[in-house]
Amino acid sequence: MAFIQPAPSLPQPYDADPALKGLLRRALAAETLAELEPSLSTMGELALRLHQLSLADRLNEPRHVPFDPWGNRVDRIEPTRLWQEAERIAAEQGLVALAYERRHGAASRLHQFALVHLFHPGSDIYTCPLAMTDGAVRTLLDSRNQALVERAVPRLTSRDPARFWTSGQWMTESSGGSDVGLGSTEARRDAAGVWRLYGRKWFTSAAAAPMALVLARPQGNPPGGKGLALFYVETRLADGAPNGFTINRLKDKLGTRKLPTAELELDGMVAMPVGELANGVRAMAPMLNVTRTWNAVTAASFLRRGIMLARDYARKRFLFGAPLAEQPLHQDTLGGLEAEAQAAFQLAFHGAELLGMVESGVSEPLHRLLTPLVKLTTARQAVAGCSELLECFGGAGYVEDTGLPVLLRDAQVLSIWEGTTDVLSLEAMKAMGSCGFDGFRAHVQELLEGARGGSLAGPERAVRAALLRAEAWWAGAEEAGARRFALTLGRTLALALMVRQAQWALDREQDPEPSRAALRFAANGVDLLHL
Ligand SMILES: Cc1cc2nc3c(=O)[nH]c(=O)nc-3n(C[C@H](O)[C@H](O)[C@H](O)COP(=O)(O)OP(=O)(O)OC[C@H]3O[C@@H](n4cnc5c(N)ncnc54)[C@H](O)[C@@H]3O)c2cc1C
Repeated sequence: MAFIQPAPSLPQPYDADPALKGLLRRALAAETLAELEPSLSTMGELALRLHQLSLADRLNEPRHVPFDPWGNRVDRIEPTRLWQEAERIAAEQGLVALAYERRHGAASRLHQFALVHLFHPGSDIYTCPLAMTDGAVRTLLDSRNQALVERAVPRLTSRDPARFWTSGQWMTESSGGSDVGLGSTEARRDAAGVWRLYGRKWFTSAAAAPMALVLARPQGNPPGGKGLALFYVETRLADGAPNGFTINRLKDKLGTRKLPTAELELDGMVAMPVGELANGVRAMAPMLNVTRTWNAVTAASFLRRGIMLARDYARKRFLFGAPLAEQPLHQDTLGGLEAEAQAAFQLAFHGAELLGMVESGVSEPLHRLLTPLVKLTTARQAVAGCSELLECFGGAGYVEDTGLPVLLRDAQVLSIWEGTTDVLSLEAMKAMGSCGFDGFRAHVQELLEGARGGSLAGPERAVRAALLRAEAWWAGAEEAGARRFALTLGRTLALALMVRQAQWALDREQDPEPSRAALRFAANGVDLLHL
């Protein structure tokens, strides 16, 4: 009989995630965690079910239906079966709502993102429309446009799947996704005083969403970002017909294939201004702070999913007389990946914590610097880590129906959308220009305050050395080095966060595991300025 290799199986993702549990124990009061725990266990079970569904639904993709049987232009998108299930789970479990119900104050963001972390890898990127939905709520609330808030926010934050809306964000045009100021979509007022949009949006990932926030240039406004304004659109008219748009096609993409990313032609789409008729890019900023945090959490979550499967596989795969899990070199490879995953996780949840604090009114001047750092660093970690993780399965990692290659193909997008690595590095440099290096240094040093040397002395030294090097570089900063600078800051911050978690775990739980990860992450390298 031919040998049959047992497939890797996924453990219940909440039960099997000590990093997630440890962070929640450190960051939350015991009674708060006790209140949240049932929802986390439920999501762990749902995540397991989504993982199976995702494997079964592997070949299904969304479909663009341009016409109905009678020739009417309808431009509907039929989502996959899994997406319909993911939408129901997301609404019922409050994956957007939790952040705005705020039952646990600033900690509500931690709760929300802990659920997202569990939900994401089996959701076939349903987290993309959820991120934009969350961002749309934040943007509308911050705009203080009461009419739009009352119209849309109850839908976007509904826990009833029948009432729940997702939102798109339509910024990118073929002229530029980074430099959106080049956009040529125009907003014109018709004879009845109604604003209508005309132009082409080049990447719209929530084209099936009932609403979107759109950048367009009011007729007569000057070129550049300041001349753009932010508009609110509902994609369907009262009779269900498209609101002045057609879908030219769905993109044929490397990954995120379950996500219907469309090219749209806007031809008289009825729209409402969200705020002033200019400075739309600035008005969109709250959206980006939220979606970038989602991006970071999903990056960490992909790494965690890959590691869970790789560890299980290593126990089942026998080579050279022993399970792979017992071979020192493979243990070392997994150790390096585990360190990157824990670092990405700490960074992502730091971003979540800061977002919660800012929303609670705690002023956080570093937020504008840390959000791009967290997003860009975790995205690069996910791309590199998922590539390495596929190799852990040998040839099986390269074979589609194992369900493994999709990890890498989907992770690849995380460093492109919501700001590429280079573009965010430049943003981080700009933000550093406003808050100064002192603010960043003080923040990192505060994280190290409780550290007491011992096994953590090495990582602590690595943080301090990287800070010194980064500060020296900053004194003569040059745009060409922005990426290396930003990645160094991101990794330095990650290591400081790991040291804080590790010291807490040693003190409170006599658990040396997070210290091992910190040591290994320091050895992987945090200072990339020399590259
Ligand atoms: C799957 C997918 C879904 C998407 N969904 C949406 C969506 O729903 N809504 C939406 O609005 N957009 C969406 N996007 C678009 C995405 O945000 C853009 O692709 C991204 O912002 C990059 O823009 P671009 O493609 O025009 O590349 P460009 O802006 O042309 O960038 C090309 C390269 O130039 C680099 N670069 C740019 N400026 C500089 C600089 N000053 N210095 C150095 N390097 C620079 C970039 O880093 C990049 O490497 C999606 C993209 C993808 C891939």
